[in-house]
Amino acid sequence: MILLLLGPPGAGKGTQGELLAKELGIPKIATGDVLRAALRDGTKLGKEAKSYMDRGDLVPDDVILGIMREKFESDETKDGAVLDGVVRTVPQAHGLGVMLAKLGRGVDKVMLFDIDDEKLVARLSSRTVCDKCQHPFKDREPGTKCEKCGGTLVRRKDDEPEAVRNRLRVYKDQTAPVIEWYEDREAAPLKIKADGSPEEVTERALRALKEK
Ligand code: AMP
Repeated sequence: MILLLLGPPGAGKGTQGELLAKELGIPKIATGDVLRAALRDGTKLGKEAKSYMDRGDLVPDDVILGIMREKFESDETKDGAVLDGVVRTVPQAHGLGVMLAKLGRGVDKVMLFDIDDEKLVARLSSRTVCDKCQHPFKDREPGTKCEKCGGTLVRRKDDEPEAVRNRLRVYKDQTAPVIEWYEDREAAPLKIKADGSPEEVTERALRALKEK
């Protein structure tokens, strides 16, 4: 199963992606995590992506499609994947579809996490993430130890207010059209209400997957 998660930044795609991947027994692939790891390791990919990421802008489509090609040509995704944070533009949706078709595969399900804008800004500005395992935390100060892996919690540069506003603008301009693109094609997005506890949202998501 290839399950693609859509939704604005802060809707909980990362957390839900992790929980759903565990439930479904397939890996979660998050382009944001791949890019942040490249940034930390100082690779060519990281250097190329840094300025876009710091501003909250999107990294060019060909870079993202390159990452996806590598993932889908590897064994890691042989049983499927939960895609978190990708695709984010119509050309990425198209490019991913073409690439998967060549491999005899396709996106099976698309899920849209729906939430109000005010909740998003509040969620993102109170979020810290582990600098090692990337797990997000709510209302924990930067510098606290990660209880999952012992890493250190940091505030993402793109969770600063100016970058958050830009990310929401970018989502409306470039990512929201992807919802319609899938409605017209392979898989109409399953809409999931993203407020409530992470467990409640996962339960709604799993129920929606079963019903369809
Ligand atoms: P995320 O962790 O998904 O919020 O991604 C963090 C940042 O990485 C985004 O604000 C973009 O700069 C970049 N990024 C991640 N995934 C993509 C994508 N599919 N297309 C373009 N940029 C991306």
